[in-house]
Amino acid sequence: MVATAPLDIPVIEPSSRVKGFLQSQRQILINGKWQDSSSGKTFAVYNPANGDEIAQVAEGDAEDINQAVAAARKVFDDPNHAWNTMTPSERGKLIWKIGDLILENLDELAELESLDNGKPMGVAKVADVPLSADLFHYMAGWVTKIEGNTIPISVPYAPGAKFHAFTMREPVGVVGQIIPWNFPLLMAAWKLGPVLATGNCVVLKPAEQTPLTALRLGEIIQEAGVPDGVVNIVTGMGETAGAALAAHDDVDKVAFTGSTEVGKMIVNAASGNLKKVTLELGGKSPNIIFKDTDDLEATIAGAASAIFFNHGQCCCAGSRLYVEKDIFDDVIAGVSAAAESIKLGPGLAADTEMGPLVSDEQLNRVTGYMSAGQEAGATCLTGGTRRGDQGYFVSPTVIKNASDDMSIVREEIFGPVVVADPFDDIEEIVARSNDSTYGLAAGIWTNDISKAHRTAARLRAGTVWINCYNIFDAALPFGGYKQSGWGREMGHEVLDLYTETKAVCLGL
Ligand code: NAP
Ligand code: MG
Repeated sequence: MVATAPLDIPVIEPSSRVKGFLQSQRQILINGKWQDSSSGKTFAVYNPANGDEIAQVAEGDAEDINQAVAAARKVFDDPNHAWNTMTPSERGKLIWKIGDLILENLDELAELESLDNGKPMGVAKVADVPLSADLFHYMAGWVTKIEGNTIPISVPYAPGAKFHAFTMREPVGVVGQIIPWNFPLLMAAWKLGPVLATGNCVVLKPAEQTPLTALRLGEIIQEAGVPDGVVNIVTGMGETAGAALAAHDDVDKVAFTGSTEVGKMIVNAASGNLKKVTLELGGKSPNIIFKDTDDLEATIAGAASAIFFNHGQCCCAGSRLYVEKDIFDDVIAGVSAAAESIKLGPGLAADTEMGPLVSDEQLNRVTGYMSAGQEAGATCLTGGTRRGDQGYFVSPTVIKNASDDMSIVREEIFGPVVVADPFDDIEEIVARSNDSTYGLAAGIWTNDISKAHRTAARLRAGTVWINCYNIFDAALPFGGYKQSGWGREMGHEVLDLYTETKAVCLGL
């Protein structure tokens, strides 16, 4: 077990609005109605800053998933339903309104997210919530632009025959979406924005650790005027509700974000009816600093934020830091100093820069890796400890002298722990960067534009950031190579994954 260093955690009361939301037991949304789970069971949601229970939430299981899928199916299969007769322009306006309402409720959503997940409220206010709104606004614009093609065809076995052939893009049908706890509202937005833009119906299962903002978003979606049954939200456990959704024969597609391990279970569960599958999974992303980087101070700040943003609970966290030998000592000294300067505290405190990890389970996982690394002979330059004896806080941690085969180098820790190592040349660092089962993201820091592009082209990763990191935008597709996933979120690419192509051929 790693050591514990003291931490003073102030007690901060939530606003009366958020208290009001948490007071009554939160229910499941099926066919436009908020209802208890069919079993009557509920589960507790905790404040990760002190472990206190903050809410009780309905615990849906296979029966609730059946009801939610049936509600979604009924809407989707009814050609006269308002959702299916709505013009693209009208649907676009509804989706735009969801974005507007998110911004109108920005403070409340940020506070709820902070309380539930532990992230600083200030960060949720400038990142999670505005990015969620922007995603809906971006997707709203696409609704009127989902087009097919006209295709000149030759048909060699029908000489002289004439045809008019074209493609249409149609919604996939009923979609099951399963999301994690690291960006609860934003992950819901990444999933629901494209599903609505393309005219599908959906059952969303939020993570059991952080269901609150998805439920609040459900209210917002109703307020925007999305017809009943189009969006259904079933809170519950992954092993029951999530598994039932992934396996359901009446679900046409499942979209999942979470661990690679569970992603493989989703693929197996989906095989029964061969539903479409998209997966956004884990990562162990290399962040490469060349010695000719333009501004060392800015690069060091970038490397620190690449790993410490969101407490390292980012699938694309820059968790393997590779620094060209000549500047290695300077960079790791700078990143360690940055780690030590980060103010830990509850998400709701105004001066908090890093909150607690999301759960007891995650605390054990992260401290387990800290111990494993040190036992394997790696050197902890700073951090390496739990902080305080309440809540799930850990110190931002910088480790060196780890060999490429150690678990802390190969496996996703999903915490504020970076492993740093020097390198000599491009060939070596491209090979080491690509030596991973993952391929989600990578960072490159250099003043040499040609070297930057040569390196970017050779990295097997879905996103490469050059002289920046953790830059997300609704217009930029995001997703993984290798075991980091299947398909892309955001950008117009995601629309292809929520539509089927129908080829129509008319003999003239
Ligand atoms: P997880 O277990 O993969 O959970 C992600 C989602 O899948 C949650 O909604 C979860 O429900 C659900 N789920 C779990 N088991 C399921 C099953 N058998 N069938 C269907 N759905 C299931 O991830 P986690 O436990 O929250 O975190 C573990 C690790 O996942 C992290 O440490 C990290 O490595 C990775 N992760 C990656 C991302 C990313 O963005 N790529 C995000 C979060 C976590 P419950 O919450 O009820 O279990
Ligand atoms: Mg879980």
